[in-house]
Amino acid sequence: MRFLIVLGLLILLYYLVKGWIFSSKQRQMGRGGGERELESEMVKDPHCKTYIPKDSAIHARLDGRDYYFCSKECMSKFRDEMEGNRYERRGK
Ligand SMILES: [Zn+2]
Repeated sequence: MRFLIVLGLLILLYYLVKGWIFSSKQRQMGRGGGERELESEMVKDPHCKTYIPKDSAIHARLDGRDYYFCSKECMSKFRDEMEGNRYERRGK
């Protein structure tokens, strides 16, 4: 039974070391190989404040400005808020 625990720990250690070596190798490659290719641009969802890759973001043009959202729900909520604000301002 004890042997199994030791074996389990060794396997765990092996994977940890393997992962560490792999990630440090990758880091070196990134440094040596010049600039790494830029992953797709990140954009901020103005409603829930999360960052999403531009490729998978939902684009909307509101009031002449470009906005990117993580989901359609966020888009419609933000649009509602925006319109709500506008009406409030108008009412005053
Ligand atoms: Zn969102």
